[in-house]
Amino acid sequence: MNRSVVSSHPASTLTMSAPDVGEEEIALVNSVLRSTDLSGGPMVSAFEREWSERLGGGHAVAVSSGTAGLHVAMLAAGVDAGDTVVTSSFSFLASANAALFVRAIPLFVDIDPVTMNIDPAAVEEAVDALQRGGAAAQRWMPRTIPPHLQNPGRSSRIGAILPVHVFGQPADMRPIVATAERHGIPVVEDACEAVGATYEGQQAGTFGSAAVFAFYPNKQMTTGEGGMFVTASEEWAQLARSLRNQGRDTDATWLRHVRLGYNYRMDDIRAAVGLGQLRRLDQLLAARARVAAGYKERLASNEDILLPEVVSSTTQMSWFVFVIRLAAGIDRDAVMATLAADGVPSRPYFSPIHLQPFYREQFGYTEGDLPHTEAAGRSALALPFHARLSDDDLDFVVDRLIRAIASNRQQA
Ligand SMILES: *Cc1c(COP(=O)(O)O)cnc(C)c1O
Repeated sequence: MNRSVVSSHPASTLTMSAPDVGEEEIALVNSVLRSTDLSGGPMVSAFEREWSERLGGGHAVAVSSGTAGLHVAMLAAGVDAGDTVVTSSFSFLASANAALFVRAIPLFVDIDPVTMNIDPAAVEEAVDALQRGGAAAQRWMPRTIPPHLQNPGRSSRIGAILPVHVFGQPADMRPIVATAERHGIPVVEDACEAVGATYEGQQAGTFGSAAVFAFYPNKQMTTGEGGMFVTASEEWAQLARSLRNQGRDTDATWLRHVRLGYNYRMDDIRAAVGLGQLRRLDQLLAARARVAAGYKERLASNEDILLPEVVSSTTQMSWFVFVIRLAAGIDRDAVMATLAADGVPSRPYFSPIHLQPFYREQFGYTEGDLPHTEAAGRSALALPFHARLSDDDLDFVVDRLIRAIASNRQQA
């Protein structure tokens, strides 16, 4: 590697993520701004229609964020106060918070240490135990349950299984769906990081009773803020349309409110950005895949670094972030600090949900509760990742990363 080129790299321009918005999106946004339909107009319907076409059918309901979509999904699935929602702690905390929004109890099971996705064997074990009840069920419950999540009026049930497709790799859906079907439990996929990913040839977001995608600017495609709720059920789609729109009756008069609803609408300006992005999605995903391949090539055969592992059930990876894991004996946080001093941003992705202060306080979680999740949380490091990173950028990041690792190796 040519050191003089590398060290003259303008590190100040490196960012963790960057949206890729093009002329098509700008033209579509302009057309909305010149119209009278800034919200509730044809751009939202077009975005939803093309989204559902891309998924090969079903209903798509655009919402104001991925988090709003997950809340709607919990309500559509009928998850109720005191129910449990079986999910993963190795995720962005919005996925578990969705259960709390409906006063349900997020029940974490551990991850597969290779993919860092929820472990289907652990899901099965937890579901079987919870269905049996008694001491077997108790073993899976959090240490403490805050009073407002208890529903003494009726016995607890499993409201939903909520797998997360972590970093754009689909969770192992076949066994998860089998467990859910055996017990008649709805599956809600958190597909917020997995637009365009496929599992055994089938698209992420089409396995569960419902799924949610998200469009924050660091995602594979963006609308600024935004999300998409999808379902094969006409009834759930109607409910989602009502919930996002103040509980309005979807087929009746404007001011007829039939349930408690929210303002979770997406406006036409955002939908225009989303529509342009969706039409370019294959190109956006391919550009990200190229950058991921560039990192892999540069980091292969480095014994200090564990590369992301794409398993054979993943027919198509959708690269959301590029997360490596550092070998034992390398202090991840010290590496991050050295990188930062060199102008290279990096992030500890994810910091497990159950160890967040709020979750510790509410549920009494402590270190040791989910060993694989915590090991991943300690060693995972997300590198700058977006479609516009050049070969020089990658050379620079990798050069600084290798130096940072060398200077932070703990002496045995
Ligand atoms: C991005 C994301 C969400 C939701 O994000 P919003 O910022 O609300 O759009 C939910 N779950 C996961 C796993 C995510 O990565």
